[in-house]
Amino acid sequence: MNDYIVTIGLEVHAELKTRTKMFCDSRNDPDEKRPNVNICPVCMGHPGTLPVINKEAVRHVLKVGLAVGGTLADFTEFDRKNYFYPDIPKGYQISQYKYPLVSGGKLSGVALTRVHLEEDTGTSLHDEGDYSLVNYNRAGVPLMELVTEPVIHSAKEAVAFAKELQLLLRYLDVGEANLEKGEMRVEANISISKDPEKFGTKVEVKNLNSFRAVEKAIEYEVARHMEVLESGGTLSQETRGWNETKETTFSQRSKEDSHDYRYFPDPDLPKLYISHIPEFQAGALKKDMGELPWDKRERYKKEFELKDEDVEIFVGTPSWGSYFEALIADFNSDKKLIKLASNYITSDLLGLVKKNPIAWEQKPIEHKSFAALIKMIGENKLNSRSAKDILAILYTEGGDPAKIAEERGLLQKNDTGELTIIIQKIIDENPAVVAEIKAGKEAALQFLIGQGMKATRGSANPEMLKEIFKNSLQ
Ligand code: ADP
Ligand code: MG
Repeated sequence: MNDYIVTIGLEVHAELKTRTKMFCDSRNDPDEKRPNVNICPVCMGHPGTLPVINKEAVRHVLKVGLAVGGTLADFTEFDRKNYFYPDIPKGYQISQYKYPLVSGGKLSGVALTRVHLEEDTGTSLHDEGDYSLVNYNRAGVPLMELVTEPVIHSAKEAVAFAKELQLLLRYLDVGEANLEKGEMRVEANISISKDPEKFGTKVEVKNLNSFRAVEKAIEYEVARHMEVLESGGTLSQETRGWNETKETTFSQRSKEDSHDYRYFPDPDLPKLYISHIPEFQAGALKKDMGELPWDKRERYKKEFELKDEDVEIFVGTPSWGSYFEALIADFNSDKKLIKLASNYITSDLLGLVKKNPIAWEQKPIEHKSFAALIKMIGENKLNSRSAKDILAILYTEGGDPAKIAEERGLLQKNDTGELTIIIQKIIDENPAVVAEIKAGKEAALQFLIGQGMKATRGSANPEMLKEIFKNSLQ
């Protein structure tokens, strides 16, 4: 069973964030709850209307193309993809067929075939009894389609790709790309074969509304293909849906060929010569492209030498990345303080936010007080227990960490003179333990250090205690 080669290619649709729709000036507002308000004769397909290309949407796709290192088309055009369905008022969808805006490129190690621009359909509601309702607010919303080569070999790899694409769309600010809201829709093409020279029969799985669904559906299909083939059966090329509750796929329809759609260039739209349009030039596009996720990843690793898990948190949630960068702004590139800051954000602060997100939303800890806390830790003025306690206080009440430490007697006792006196007392009170240590039982030292922490109410520097104990017992 294990000698099958799994092959996966993804087709991903993403709604683009623009002010208006793809070919008219109806608003593109995914949050509009009232049905059929953002519509006009153009997106409703009334006869005699003419579409106009949305420049912003074209720029969005070209930016994606630049980011993934694809080739931006010089010549491009839009085509009509003909089919009948109530959610497609014109009887065709405007898409791109022969001349996509972007060809090639690579993302998350996966080779891309193309990225093109089309329009979204309306949404139908079938669960209202014996009739269906159609909402055209989404009809004509700019939709990007990205197609990968069949070069992915596992469900995990497919999910990693989809996550990286989501991150890219968000970084470029071209789409929100929530799978759960249908803003990004992943279709997985899957086949298995024992022959590395020949692909097996391909099945396409649709309506995957979460990363988890992408992973589960691919795993399910791969297992199903193996079972069918191993029991001597054959697979048919088809489109399948994903049943979220049963976690199974089911047959929807046999796959149509592209000639079924009778594609032809839309005669109502102008051809585009990208190199003739100033706003579409790489230089102009790059001007409003910020740092890309993978560049940020590299920068965090090189500049700050953070652990991979921390880097992923800061890259994956850019608001945490910005918080971190603002926090370390006056650390003068001190690696030790930077790493401390990263640790305290990713473990302690995120823990507090998880438990009580409202407090953070209402009033995040001010950079300067968090930075002051980190500096105190760096200067050995606080041990980690006290630092965590102060952080929790900053989280709920705010304040000045130095003051809090002083008020609560949390400043770490680094004064050897004072500690030596306390330690001498502990040694005098615990002759049996001292004897054990002298007999070579190192572990007993831990007990004495514990006593020292207790005597100083947690404010001693444990490292320092250990040193002084060792010296005193020699
Ligand atoms: P179709 O003509 O059926 O739409 P395409 O060649 O356009 O097929 O490919 C659509 C998607 O299917 C692409 O993402 C491609 O990588 C993927 N794909 C093609 N052949 C296979 C295969 N044998 N196994 C898995 N994925 C495949
Ligand atoms: Mg295709």
